[in-house]
Amino acid sequence: MPFSQHILDNALGAVGNTPLIRLDRISKAEGLECNLLGKLEYPSVGGSVKDRIAKRMVEAAEKEGKLIPGYSVVIEPTSGNTGIGLAMACAVKGYSVIITMPNKMSLEKEAALRALGAEVVRTPTEAAWDSPESHIGVAQKLQREIPGGIILDQYGNVNNPLAHEYTTGPEIIEAVTSTPATTDKPSSGKVDALIAGAGTGGTITGLSRAIKKIHNKACIIVGVDPKGSILAVPDSLNTADVGAQYIVEGIGYDFVPDVLSRNEIDYWIKTADEEAFEAVRKLMRLEGLLVGGSSGSSLSGALRWLQETDEGRRIARTRGANVVVLLPDGIRNYISKPWFLKMAMGAEPSPLAHRITAILKPE
Ligand code: PMP
Repeated sequence: MPFSQHILDNALGAVGNTPLIRLDRISKAEGLECNLLGKLEYPSVGGSVKDRIAKRMVEAAEKEGKLIPGYSVVIEPTSGNTGIGLAMACAVKGYSVIITMPNKMSLEKEAALRALGAEVVRTPTEAAWDSPESHIGVAQKLQREIPGGIILDQYGNVNNPLAHEYTTGPEIIEAVTSTPATTDKPSSGKVDALIAGAGTGGTITGLSRAIKKIHNKACIIVGVDPKGSILAVPDSLNTADVGAQYIVEGIGYDFVPDVLSRNEIDYWIKTADEEAFEAVRKLMRLEGLLVGGSSGSSLSGALRWLQETDEGRRIARTRGANVVVLLPDGIRNYISKPWFLKMAMGAEPSPLAHRITAILKPE
């Protein structure tokens, strides 16, 4: 289904419809017998899983008569990817956009936003969510002052989880159920476990609903939350690292957004930056996938769940069980980040690199 071959009306026609990809080399290296599958979201036209909610929130607001071309100013607090999706949708539809975004988010996201015509306001990363200086507080102040200002509010908008319940989830189910089991690639024919990080929580909540309601009630939904965030349940998981800063972008918060329905998540894993970046390296080197930092968090959370919990170990040992890992965006959002430059440019020279140096050395 990805990239159907007909003419699309505009960029919004190329949102979603992303591939589900076997991660066989990682699975083998980790000694797993189940199928490890990556739902790869960077091929979506704006580069992330958040294109889906941006499109749906804008189209829903239009239907409700809340957006007026040439007058409305869409204002949104975001870690960047929702902003990019909104700026793309609003470029096509003729609305102005202001994005408020904490300082820690990458220069690449700000540049993409500005290139799409959005105004960008940076806010202190350490500001509490309910303080007037936070990205949320600043967006609210701007909305009060700017005529036509409207916050679509990904933290509370039902169209956020609905976008995943109606698109991301069904795409995963369709890919799994339409791929026949073979002798060398056995399959249970269903999604047995799904692992995703949570920022607003819209992705994991919508996926849980799609899978449990219409496909497999017994599917285990695992949420991944960075150390320093407070989204995980039970709360005792969060207390060890209260207030710790983390570098990974797009996941974790200091409040529980309304769209995150934590009682629809079966299990939580806390992850650290270093293990996330190591998992990004695995996805690049072993699978050829140029994913971003939170994809590493998803993978490392998945591997920890499969290796460290009873239920996870049972699934890891089951041939044909399908374990889906959500990979939300791509590395092109993070090229200038020190953690990535160190990984890409700071590696020890390989034997091949030494050979090249020797060959090219002046006589
Ligand atoms: N990863 C990245 C890179 C993101 O931008 C986001 C969105 N904040 C997420 C993960 C988490 O998605 P959600 O907000 O749906 O929980």
